[in-house]
Amino acid sequence: MPTLSPSDAVESAPVNASSPAPGTAPLTSSVKATYEQYVVPSYARSIVLVRGQGSYVWDETGKRYLDFGGGIAVNSLGHAHPAITKALTEQSQTLMHVSNLYYHPWQAQLAERLVKHVAAPAAAGAGKVFFCNSGAEANEMLYKAARKNGNATLAAEGKGAGTRYEVITANNSFHGRTLGGIAATGQDKIKKGFEPIIDGFRHVPFHDLAAIEAAISDKTAAVLIESIQGESGIHPVSAEYLLGLRELCDKHGLLLLMDAVQCGMFRTGKFLGYQRILEGHPRAAEFYADGISMAKSLGGGFPIGAVWLSDKIAAHFQPGTHGTTYGGTPLACAVALAVLDTIENEGLAEKIRRIGDGLKACIENDPDLMGNVFKEVRGFGGLLGLELRDRTTAEVVPALRAQGLLVIPSGDTAIRLLPALNINEREAQEALGILRFSL
Ligand SMILES: *Cc1c(COP(=O)(O)O)cnc(C)c1O
Repeated sequence: MPTLSPSDAVESAPVNASSPAPGTAPLTSSVKATYEQYVVPSYARSIVLVRGQGSYVWDETGKRYLDFGGGIAVNSLGHAHPAITKALTEQSQTLMHVSNLYYHPWQAQLAERLVKHVAAPAAAGAGKVFFCNSGAEANEMLYKAARKNGNATLAAEGKGAGTRYEVITANNSFHGRTLGGIAATGQDKIKKGFEPIIDGFRHVPFHDLAAIEAAISDKTAAVLIESIQGESGIHPVSAEYLLGLRELCDKHGLLLLMDAVQCGMFRTGKFLGYQRILEGHPRAAEFYADGISMAKSLGGGFPIGAVWLSDKIAAHFQPGTHGTTYGGTPLACAVALAVLDTIENEGLAEKIRRIGDGLKACIENDPDLMGNVFKEVRGFGGLLGLELRDRTTAEVVPALRAQGLLVIPSGDTAIRLLPALNINEREAQEALGILRFSL
C-alpha cells in the first residue's frame, strides 16, 4: 500500500495463528442449539466465536478470522488488549461501582478528556458530559434535551409547555432501538410492528438543507443528524451541509444535535466524524453542535455511552431531571480512559487514518474490484462503506467470512469495514487480499 510506512509491517499484534490455546475454549458443540432454546431469536447469527486476540477472532473449530467488523465499530483496540485488561483488573480491585450520588476521580477525568476532544468553539462554551451505557440511551438524553430546551423557549415567550418538541432527523438514519430511538430513526423497517410510534419526530431527505427548512414549524425543537450515516451504507455529509445546518438552526432557534455513536471516537482519524469532514475548511471553526451522543468505540468493548452538551443546554439538567444507575461507573470510566490513553500515546488516530485511507485508495484503484465488485467506496479511516455493484450483502458477507474476513452489512447493498484503530499494514493487506480473492 503506497501510503503506508514500512514500519507497520513489523509491528503486528501478538497473534497466535494456531487454534485456541488449550483450556481457553469452552465446550461449544451445543452453543447454537442452546441459543435456539433459550435466547430470544432477534438476531440472525452465524459462527460461534470463542477467542480474540488483536484483530483476529477464532471460532469453535479453531478457524481464524480477520475481524473487520470490530463488534460493529466497538473494539477500537482489537481483542484482549493489555491496556483494557489492566484497567479492568486494577479498577475492579480498587472501586468498581458507586452510585452517581458520589464523586469519583475517573468520571471527572474522562469528562474533562471528552470535553477537550470535542473542542467546542466559544459560541457553545466548553460544554459538559453526562455518562450512560449505550448509544440509544445517549440519544434518549438528546431528545430530552430538545424537549427541555423547547419548553424553556416557550416559557421565555410566555407560552405554556408542551408544544415545541419535534426533532427533525434524516431518512435512512439510525438512532437506536428504544421507543424513542425507533421513532427518531428514519427507516420504516425498524418501526414496523411497534406502532403507535411515539410522537415528536419528522424525517426529511438526507443531506438536503432545503428539506429541513421546509419541515421546520413552531413545533420544531431540534435537528438530529449523523455526520456519517452508519447503518445505511456509510454516507458522509459535506462541510457545506454542516455549516448550512448550523446557520439554519441559529436562524430558527433550534438545537443542532449530532449522533456520533458510530462515527465518533477517532474512527475517522479525528475524534468526531464532523471534525474530519470540516478539516481544512476555511469556516470550520464556525461549526458547533448543541449536543453530541457517543458510545460504541468509547469503551473499546466495555459498555459506556456519553452525551456532550453545550454549557447552555447542560444547565437544563439540574439534580433530579435525568439519571441512570450505571452511567459513568469507576470501572467503565477507567476502561474508557485506558482506551483514550492508548489511542493518544500510540498515535492511533493518525495510524487508522493512514492505513484506512490507504486501504480505501487501494480498493478504489483496483480495476478488478471497482470494475466487477464495488461501485463506490465511501467514508474515512476505520469507517468505510463499500457499495456493491450487483451483489447483495446476503451473498457477500458469508463469502468473505468463509475466506476468513468478518465484515458488517450496511443496508442491503453495502458492506462496512470497521477494523480496530490499531490495525497494521499487513492486516489491511490481508483484508484487501481476501476481498480480491473471494469477490
Ligand atoms: C449503534 C448506533 C446507535 C445505537 O447504539 P446502541 O449502543 O446499540 O444503543 C445509535 N446511533 C448510531 C449512529 C449507531 O450507529
